[in-house]
Amino acid sequence: MKIFDGIKGYFRNIYESVTTVSMGMWITFKTAFFERKVTLQYPSHDILEGKPKDASLSNKPNLNPPFEPLLGAGQQIYKGPLNTQLPERYRGLLGYDEPSCISCLLCALNCPIDVIRVKGVKIEGRKGKVPTTFRIDYSKCMFCGLCVEVCPTDAIFFTRQFEGATFEYRTLIREFISPKLSLERLQLAEEAKAKAREKKEEKEKSARETSHTE
Ligand code: SF4
Ligand code: SF4
Repeated sequence: MKIFDGIKGYFRNIYESVTTVSMGMWITFKTAFFERKVTLQYPSHDILEGKPKDASLSNKPNLNPPFEPLLGAGQQIYKGPLNTQLPERYRGLLGYDEPSCISCLLCALNCPIDVIRVKGVKIEGRKGKVPTTFRIDYSKCMFCGLCVEVCPTDAIFFTRQFEGATFEYRTLIREFISPKLSLERLQLAEEAKAKAREKKEEKEKSARETSHTE
């Protein structure tokens, strides 16, 4: 019986080797000769839109001349937005919805590598605090998702934007609140504080006056 099992296993191994190698070869063959080649001149092309960033490249084929006739006619310029092919839960660059942010600092405190910086102030007419600084350093982010999970208002989330390459390091640090807006909010917060102080003083004064008349 053992000999029979051994012989069976021997032939099964041969069969599996032949079929798996053939499948791999078939995929290679199909891809090489029948499928449309998509070559992007990155970073000259916008890989989300498939359009050249530089207008002078718009009519140029993407393949080098010796291979072009061999690999088929289609002009090999990527047409569709690549991000529609990404899975639902794809973790691209972090996005931020400022109006939803209550400046609770949870995202910043939970980030293990100090990628996010948040500062906020309290102003009249808005629940919670409003951010005066919201900065993400994309060069450090490891897409762990901890900030997204803890955010109580979904103000920080993953986008499908995956193209983060840049020639300048500085451009990877993004400020979401403009200096002008930040200044306006700081001023409003100061005004709100002054009003609250005045109210408190008035209250204390009237309390003192009532205690004197009694
Ligand atoms: S995804 Fe992770 S590393 Fe990136 S900012 Fe959020 S918590 Fe920090
Ligand atoms: S956790 Fe959400 S609401 Fe809180 S500061 Fe971060 S982005 Fe804003």
